[in-house]
Amino acid sequence: MRDALSSVRASVDASVPGFRRRLEELIRIPSVSAPGFDPAHVRRSADCTAAILDQAGLENVRLLEIDGAHPYVAGEWLHAAAAPTVLFYAHHDVQPPGRVDRWSSDPFEPVERGGRLYGRGSADDKAGAVMHAVAVRGWLDATGTLPCNVKVLIEGEEEIGSGHLHAFLERYGRQLRADVMVLADAGNFAVGLPALTYALRGVTEITVHVRALRAPQHSGVFGGILPDPVQALAKMLATLTDDAGNIAVPTLTDDVRALTAAERERLDRLPFDDAAWAQVAGLLDGVRLLRDPGQSPWERVWMRPTIAVIGLDAHPIQGSSNQILAEAAARVSLRLAPGQDPLRCQRVLADHLRRIAPWGVQVEIELGREAAPAWICEPTGPAFEAAEAALAEAFGYPPVYMGVGGSIPFVGPFASAFGGVPALLTGPADPSSRIHSEDESLHLEDWRRHCHAEAILLAELAARLPARP
Ligand SMILES: [Zn+2]
Repeated sequence: MRDALSSVRASVDASVPGFRRRLEELIRIPSVSAPGFDPAHVRRSADCTAAILDQAGLENVRLLEIDGAHPYVAGEWLHAAAAPTVLFYAHHDVQPPGRVDRWSSDPFEPVERGGRLYGRGSADDKAGAVMHAVAVRGWLDATGTLPCNVKVLIEGEEEIGSGHLHAFLERYGRQLRADVMVLADAGNFAVGLPALTYALRGVTEITVHVRALRAPQHSGVFGGILPDPVQALAKMLATLTDDAGNIAVPTLTDDVRALTAAERERLDRLPFDDAAWAQVAGLLDGVRLLRDPGQSPWERVWMRPTIAVIGLDAHPIQGSSNQILAEAAARVSLRLAPGQDPLRCQRVLADHLRRIAPWGVQVEIELGREAAPAWICEPTGPAFEAAEAALAEAFGYPPVYMGVGGSIPFVGPFASAFGGVPALLTGPADPSSRIHSEDESLHLEDWRRHCHAEAILLAELAARLPARP
């Protein structure tokens, strides 16, 4: 296997430049899955992804469709007889570009600067999709075979919460069954320092509308006697957290599961650098991180729930006049900790907002469709040992075991549908990648190392996982 591996690694290096061009092609397609953006682009990126999987040498490359969902792309190579089957996952849809004028270059025209490739989806997650192709191509070029059976699934609706996941799993789950999943949608702990992600927070949201008047009214004639719905909403939102930034909604955190001793020990081992976080996050002078002396900051961002107001409607300042507005609205997003039930949390939050609304204003609440619980696993056993060995060999450092405060709804339902198989979350993003933000970028050398790690991982999994009867 050693000899094979060195020629596989040479083939990986040889195919990286060509696949980088395919990655750039993929970034040029604005495959934003969010409502209001042209779904034809997501279909084009599915087609382009399929062509890349074909080029990798995968067989039976196909689009998997569910009514009303953006297409998933799948491919496979199943000639490794009794060897284990690996499911490689990534997604080809992307976040909206946001404020395009804040980007240093066109979000959908990939540009290399300082060893990084800039463009929407470069790190999240088109590089993940393409690295699966590089690893497979590397093996097939060097040896004509793969050490494991490989299935690849590239999702098209991850960035909008994988709303059709259950229907998808019902329809296609059997075709995708595997002994281990490898998800290239997480990232490195730092540039050059790989990671395995064993915990993801869940996510859900609600939208609250506050209405007080049939129409806006003159603020001079009526001010002082009419309630202002914008201030009513502001008062309501102000009750969501306390001065330390902790959730203050009664009972909302009651179902957070306590950390195990192993989980706490793993968190306590990790260094946390306030200045580096402030820098990466773009925190302005004088603005403080929300720390709690009783909690590891990693626990706060990975294992505790949090609330963000992600949208606010009143009247734009431009064009405003002296009137009391008739209504206001906010969208409130909740990141959920292990143990929390998203639907219960939506209900608790909605009931709280209704209860504390001042002045008898009318409150209408829409429960968001996105409702994914957190996912956490105990990262031990042969699959994790295989990943640890592969990443250590490719990067020269063993991986850091980390959580991610974000969510990948796919992981939990698929792992349990396949009988609780291990899920290995890696990926080429790093804390400077600014995924979901302006100037998203991919560290190209780390991406190359991940392509190697994944090729090595196939050999390690074949060697360490039990062969099937
Ligand atoms: Zn992603």
